[in-house]
Amino acid sequence: MLRPLTLSILFAAGGSVLFGDLATEAPAVDVQQRRGMRAGRGAATARTQFLDMAARSYFPGRSGHLVMIPREGHIMTRDDPEVAYMHGSPWPYDAEIPLFFLGSAVQVRRHTASGTQQDIAVTLAAALGTRMPSTATGRVLPVMRANAPRPRAVVLIVLDGMRPDYFDRYAAELPTLVRLRGHSAWFSAARVNYIPTNTGVGHSTIATGANPGVHGITGNNLFNSVTHKRSDLLEGWQPRDLAALTIADVWQLDTRGRAVILAQGGSVPAATALAGHGACQLNGVPTVMAGYDQNTGRWNTNRECYTLPDSLDGMDAKTLWPADGRWMGHQIDSPGAVRRTALFPRFEANAIVESIARSSLGADEVPDMVLLNFKGADFVGHKHGPQSEELRLTFREMDKELSRILAAIESKVGKDYLLAITGDHGMPGEPASPDHRHLAAAVVDLLHDRFDPSARRLVTYYEPENAQIFVDLDRLAELHLGLADLARVLEAQPFVFAAFTQDEVRGRARALQIR
Ligand SMILES: [Zn+2]
Repeated sequence: MLRPLTLSILFAAGGSVLFGDLATEAPAVDVQQRRGMRAGRGAATARTQFLDMAARSYFPGRSGHLVMIPREGHIMTRDDPEVAYMHGSPWPYDAEIPLFFLGSAVQVRRHTASGTQQDIAVTLAAALGTRMPSTATGRVLPVMRANAPRPRAVVLIVLDGMRPDYFDRYAAELPTLVRLRGHSAWFSAARVNYIPTNTGVGHSTIATGANPGVHGITGNNLFNSVTHKRSDLLEGWQPRDLAALTIADVWQLDTRGRAVILAQGGSVPAATALAGHGACQLNGVPTVMAGYDQNTGRWNTNRECYTLPDSLDGMDAKTLWPADGRWMGHQIDSPGAVRRTALFPRFEANAIVESIARSSLGADEVPDMVLLNFKGADFVGHKHGPQSEELRLTFREMDKELSRILAAIESKVGKDYLLAITGDHGMPGEPASPDHRHLAAAVVDLLHDRFDPSARRLVTYYEPENAQIFVDLDRLAELHLGLADLARVLEAQPFVFAAFTQDEVRGRARALQIR
């Protein structure tokens, strides 16, 4: 006799737990068989979901030729101890993000429905009584009370590389953040819905409310097929690569430049995306943008588009380290290395507090904007990992500095401001085994050994955080190969979950009519 059997398909992918109920008529299935069916079905669901995530980022002429996703728990990185831990994948540890809103007009509630980065600019714009242009695909999240008055300021803080589970693991170090989240409209299932999960793409998506396939920031960098060189997107704090208006752009145009807009970031793409186009757009005026220069250890800006308060000129990261140049046993006496310590958050806070003090934030009836990238969890997480004592100490400092930053804002605008706190991406934990850590260069070697052993010209570029492999298409044709040949070899590797060709990604983008 056949009896109905419900297989509950439970598969955590991209931060969401998918429940699919498959009602079948089947005789008793043994446990092993059922597990196999579950895994097969789960993998197929995840593969489709990840292809959608890649499709949301497809931008003609910028996206890589192959998108490669490692198996869950495997890290793709570079041969560099500074980035022993590397994000970029669609797995929950990279894709889940914190997301919550606070303010006197916010309805305090925990929302279990998912929220995305694209929703943030759209929600902030609605609170200001304006809207993002049609490039934005996010929705207005139900955070404000009905008929709420306009806030005097909107404050957006992006905690770089912040996993939502850090709030629990490091609750003792994060009293301010945990308290804020407890008084917020909190989206506990928020996640990134595209790949790659990295800083440039994350901040650009947060700032524009658009998919990467629309705003055009498809990675931190890409291979320029005209110059035949790698190219950093938004290099030199130049916003021209950003192909959609940001919340800062919209607000300065709406207010005809009267709103005070302050942006700051510890890395170039973060600072630039948050600052928007400034004066480098039609009818635009300069926004204040402070970007940390990892070569000089000072705050800098792109004066074509932005301004920087003079008082930030005197701040120098070389003053951060002790005489012996060490912190927790690590050599940190350079402007680049000192970012990966608990000494850096105070330097970031000093700069934004100074920018706030020098500004006329809250001085008139036009609502103002503060857009801040806070780097600690990312820099320290990359080198020391999510479970390190180094990260614990960094959080203790970040939390203290965060309350100082909020106090500086409140001294200008009072309590009547809307605060949004989120993250750009997460960070993988320590792999179960050392051989679950893979080098991007080894993947390039593997493809060359197999397909182009003597000339080794086939693969031009692959940075693990971008999850995209760039190929010399002329060489591919010379070798009588297609991208599918390369994808098949990648997918046969035990550490690879999926490899998509550009055709697959483009086709999916078209099929879904994903903008
Ligand atoms: Zn980041």
